[in-house]
Amino acid sequence: MGAIDDLPPLREVIRTHDLQARKSMGQNFLLDLNLTAKIARQAGDLTGCDVLEIGPGPGGLTRGLLSEGARHVLAIEKDARCLPALSEVAAAYPGRLTVLEGDALDIDPLAHLTPPIRVAANLPYNVGTELLVRWLTPQDWPPFWQSLTLMFQREVAERIVAGPGSKTYGRLAILAQWRADARIVLQLPPEAFTPPPKVSSSVVHLQALPKPRFEADAAVLSRVVAAAFNQRRKMLRAALKGVAPDIEDRLIAAGLSPTDRAEQIPLEGFCALARAVAQT
Ligand code: SAM
Repeated sequence: MGAIDDLPPLREVIRTHDLQARKSMGQNFLLDLNLTAKIARQAGDLTGCDVLEIGPGPGGLTRGLLSEGARHVLAIEKDARCLPALSEVAAAYPGRLTVLEGDALDIDPLAHLTPPIRVAANLPYNVGTELLVRWLTPQDWPPFWQSLTLMFQREVAERIVAGPGSKTYGRLAILAQWRADARIVLQLPPEAFTPPPKVSSSVVHLQALPKPRFEADAAVLSRVVAAAFNQRRKMLRAALKGVAPDIEDRLIAAGLSPTDRAEQIPLEGFCALARAVAQT
């Protein structure tokens, strides 16, 4: 196994800085630097790009991103214990790594980034899903990022790429596929992590489309899709009762049947419905 840089192996970094993984922080570390470099390669050509990394931990993926040529990495980490280890990475890549301590859900990273920007992260899945939804739902498009390369529990990854008719098809699939190309690019068994989580993980790569696949207002689409899948077994006319008083007419105007269920409706149908709901 060849070294990707001159820094110590991650097991040694963890020992030196006493970085026992904490469950409360959702910490499952990747210690194989060849694997982290492989994940970094899934993010596309990093040369000439700034990369936003959330949750660098002891720095495995950070080192992958830097060794793969990222122009600059901005890493946001909540656990202050990781900062000394990350300072060593910053020293090995002068001027190319900035670390901010804090909760990624509270920090606006944009002041520290210059386009083109890619995002890469191995995060606790609940934080990852919350950030993914935020990154996919700005009112205006294209977003600040060109691509997102994110580790998820396999089950969440499958929800992002699911198509109509599948049990995993829902809000995440619609939001992701409306404005991006989304694919699973790597599958990782629990043993790839230290400590191993209970379930398998997948890396999802999302490439922002220059414009959404179908016209719709982002806020209206989000509201319609959330209501439709909140009660996914109900017919649309019942599930969407709260969205508009004349929802049956609007469903018909969108070319949908009021007795359809959310699971059967393709992305295009939800966008047509969002347009019909937005009409005054
Ligand atoms: N990227 C490292 C790796 O692949 O080995 C660490 C991955 S570990 C699954 C998740 C990391 O996210 C931890 O370092 C944890 O401290 C950090 N983290 C958890 N919640 C966070 C949050 N809200 N904001 C920023 N970092 C967070």
